[in-house]
Amino acid sequence: MDNLVSLAKRRGFIFQGSEIYGGMPGIYDYGHYGTLLKDNIRAAWLKHMIQLRDDVYGLDSAIFMHPTTWVASGHVGNFDDPQIDCRNCKNRMRADHILESFGINADKAPIEVINAELDKLRAAKKLKCTNCGSSDLTPARKFSLMVKSNLGSPTDALTEENVVYLRPETCGGIYLQYKNTLDSLHPHLPFGIAQVGKAFRNEISARQFIFRTREFEQMELQYFLKKEDVEKTYEYWKNTRFEWYVAHGISRESLRFYKHEKLAHYASQAWDIEYNFKSLEGFKEVEGIHARGDWDLSQHSKFSGVDLSYFDEETKQRFIPHIVETSAGLNRLVLMFLDHAYTEDEVNGEKRVFLKLPFALAPVKAAIFPLLKNKPVLVAKAREIYEMLREKFMVEFDDNGNIGKRYRRQDEIGTPYCITVDFDTIEKDAGVTVRNRDTGVQERVKIEELVGRLK
Ligand code: ATP
Repeated sequence: MDNLVSLAKRRGFIFQGSEIYGGMPGIYDYGHYGTLLKDNIRAAWLKHMIQLRDDVYGLDSAIFMHPTTWVASGHVGNFDDPQIDCRNCKNRMRADHILESFGINADKAPIEVINAELDKLRAAKKLKCTNCGSSDLTPARKFSLMVKSNLGSPTDALTEENVVYLRPETCGGIYLQYKNTLDSLHPHLPFGIAQVGKAFRNEISARQFIFRTREFEQMELQYFLKKEDVEKTYEYWKNTRFEWYVAHGISRESLRFYKHEKLAHYASQAWDIEYNFKSLEGFKEVEGIHARGDWDLSQHSKFSGVDLSYFDEETKQRFIPHIVETSAGLNRLVLMFLDHAYTEDEVNGEKRVFLKLPFALAPVKAAIFPLLKNKPVLVAKAREIYEMLREKFMVEFDDNGNIGKRYRRQDEIGTPYCITVDFDTIEKDAGVTVRNRDTGVQERVKIEELVGRLK
């Protein structure tokens, strides 16, 4: 993790939020290469979800929604984590995570059950602060993850009647625009709505770099279908999503499914896709796939008074569709792809760090170098190639330092190809040297073939 964090900062991928004011826990900003990488992951997901399908539509709903949305969904009453504090160093911890480290699964357990388990550990003198080791810890209490604001309210007070929430997940917006999507695009079941957007959670302990943050982006699909189709469609989405990771370069061995045994009362299945993070030393959730029954649309129908049922022309029946959801964290996937790509090897006896990112996700696809900075004829030709390629790809021009240094810089940001213009380019063959990031192998390619080869 230390290596990743320092690379991410040094090379302009990810910065601590508000760093000059001392930083804010759980808040990060994305620099030039981080933005490009994140955009490429988002684009790959949207392509897979929308461009390559006939049955999924896009949406970009607002972060602020009618506050009743979150009462209907159960978030206002129930979206909380069990928190314990260290009285000695004021460290704040997730009680369920502490129990998990003792092999006790407290996922969704009531607070009384969690406290009973904690008491057993306390009696056995095993319960300690994860930061300072003190055993002077408070009992667990519920801590709401909802982030509040006072948008448009006549007073500053965040009282119940004034409060609006920053959405804790993006799917709320999909449920609220389900009817408009149906009425404007007239899809037949099964169909889905996909969206990528910000979500906010007042996470108790946000300490694992961008793995768990208080502001993040989710990529969510809500797939609406008939009840009788849920079982097979659930399997389909589980496998389709798993294969998306493999298709984007994540090795099969570093992925696995995790089945949730304790389910929300409306859910029939919940599995996570987990990735084996080197930086976090183990498998952790990157995406959740949930069969949510007809709970969401039923609740929003009930609370809004608007009929959200679907009329099936074939059977002439009216019913509330069921939902299969896939929900991935975009920032968490940035960490996963960086974690998987981070590689160290040795070139000519020197340590090299490089990011083995797949071409589609790499922030920069190729870098173009003149062999020598002080030879105008080389610089002009390299610039000409750079201008040609930038119309089609994100590319960089670099004439700073020796070629070896330029290679190292591009390796560190994961650029798959480096293209060098030398004297032969001008005098002999109109070719350039293309060097492969992963193998270091160089080959001669004609300038007019570059675009085709990169494609
Ligand atoms: P966790 O158990 O890790 O808190 P969750 O089960 O609450 O996650 P979901 O509500 O199912 O997560 O959200 C779906 C996805 O959104 C997660 O798989 C994860 O990738 C992402 N996600 C959730 N919370 C955060 C967060 N605080 N920071 C970054 N990504 C998050």
